[in-house]
Amino acid sequence: MPLAKLQAQDDFDGWRTAARALALADVPAEQVSWQVGDDVGDLFAGIAETPVPPAPADATFSVSRGFVDLAETVILHADPERFGLLYTMLRRLRAQPGLIDDHADPLRRRLEDMAKAVRRDIHKMRAFLRFREVVEADGQPRFVAWFEPEHHIVRANAGFFVRRFASMRWSILTPEATIHWDGEALTEGPGAARADAPDGDPVEDAWKTYYASIFNPARLKTGSMIKEMPKKYWRNMPETALVPGLIAGAQHRESQMIDTARAAPGGNAQLALDALREEAAGCKRCPLWKPATQTVFGEGPPDAKLLFIGEQPGDQEDLAGRPFVGPAGQLFDRAMADAGVDRATTYVSNAVKHFKYEPRGKRRIHSKPNGSEIEACRWWIEQEREIVKPAVTVALGATAAQSLLGRVVTISRTRGAPIALADGSEGWVTVHPSFLLRIPEEDRRAEEYARFVEDLRRVGERARTLAG
Ligand code: SF4
Repeated sequence: MPLAKLQAQDDFDGWRTAARALALADVPAEQVSWQVGDDVGDLFAGIAETPVPPAPADATFSVSRGFVDLAETVILHADPERFGLLYTMLRRLRAQPGLIDDHADPLRRRLEDMAKAVRRDIHKMRAFLRFREVVEADGQPRFVAWFEPEHHIVRANAGFFVRRFASMRWSILTPEATIHWDGEALTEGPGAARADAPDGDPVEDAWKTYYASIFNPARLKTGSMIKEMPKKYWRNMPETALVPGLIAGAQHRESQMIDTARAAPGGNAQLALDALREEAAGCKRCPLWKPATQTVFGEGPPDAKLLFIGEQPGDQEDLAGRPFVGPAGQLFDRAMADAGVDRATTYVSNAVKHFKYEPRGKRRIHSKPNGSEIEACRWWIEQEREIVKPAVTVALGATAAQSLLGRVVTISRTRGAPIALADGSEGWVTVHPSFLLRIPEEDRRAEEYARFVEDLRRVGERARTLAG
C-alpha cells in the first residue's frame, strides 16, 4: 500500500507532489494511505508500506486553476479523509476536466462544502479573536490571543494578522500551533493550552468601551449578532460580558443612537467601514485576489443616502486602489454632474472587489466576473450597505444588479422603476457607464447618455425624498 507522507496538516505542497506522482502511476485512490508527520495511528499499524513512486522526469500533468484553488482550501479542513477525497477528485478530473464546474456532482459538492467551512472558520478567527496585553521582560507590550479553530487555518491566516497588526508584537495561541510576530518576522511554535493565555487587562477595558459605543441594537431585530458571534467564541471575547446589559438597554440606546447619529452623522459607521475595508484587504473568498494588485473597496460618506454599485475595478482602479477613477468612472462623474447629483455625497463601490482580467501581451483585458465570484463577493457589498444604510441603492449594469438582487435580471426589463429591497430601502437598476463607452455610433451614444443622466437624476431625487 503506497503511503503518502505529509509534513503537516496543512501541507498542500506535500499533498500536491504526492498526488501528482500517484496519479501519474495510475494508483487507485483506495490503495493510498495518507499520513501526517510520523504518527501512523492504529488504522495503518502493521500494514506494509511502500513509498510513493517518483513521477517520471518527462511527465506532464496539468489541472485547472479552479481545482488547485479548491484543493488549497480543502487541505485546511479537519476531516482526515480530505487528502483521499481530493486525490479521488484529481483522478476523476484527469479523465473528465469539466467535472470541476459540475456543482451537482456529489464529490464536487462535498469538497465545496468543506472549502466553505474552512472559509467560515478563517473569517471567524479574524472577526472573533481578541488580544490581551502583557508586558514582556524588556518592558515592551506583547498582545496575546487565544483561539480554538475548527480547522487547520492558523498558518493560512497568519498573513492577515501580520498585515493588520504589523507594528505590534503579538502571539496567537491555539491548541494545534502558536504563531508569533515581533514586528519583523513570523515564527511558529507548538500548540498551547487555554491557561497559557492571559485573562482580562486594560486592553479589554478599552475594547469593552469601544464595543459598547458601536453596539447597534438594530441588529438584534435580525438576530444577526447571535448568528455572527457563535457562543463558542463568547468566552474569549471581553465584550460578551456586556451583551446581556446591552440587550436589556437596547431600546433606550436605540433612540439615543439615532440622536447621536443625527448629531454626528456617520461617526460610528466610519469606524465600522474602516474595519471592514481592512478586513477586505486580505479577502480570499474567491480566486480573483491572486492576479489582482489589491482589493478595491468602496468609498464615500458613511451616511450617504445614495449608494452606487458598479461591476468590478478596472485596470486603473486596480492600480490606484480606488473605485470609479478610470474612464468609466470619469464618465460617471460627468453624468452625475449633468444630472445635478453631488457625487461627493454618494457612496460608490463594486459588486466584485478585485480586478478580473486576461493578460494580452502587456495589456490586461477586462474579463466579466462569473456567478460564483459575484456570490462570493456579495458578502462585502451587503456589509457596506448594512453600515451605510442608503435610502436608495443603484446597480450599474447586470453584474451589480445580480449582486444587489441575488438573481440574474435583464437591464431593459428592470430599469426605470424602484425595487423594494429586503431591508426596506429602494433599489434601482440602470446601465454601467462602460456600456456607453462601448457604443460606436455617436448619435446612439448621445441618446443612451441622456437616458443614463435621466436615470441618475431620478435616483438622486428619490434619495432626497426618502431621506426627508
Ligand atoms: S473578488 Fe471579492 S470575494 Fe473575491 S477575493 Fe476579491 S474581495 Fe474576496
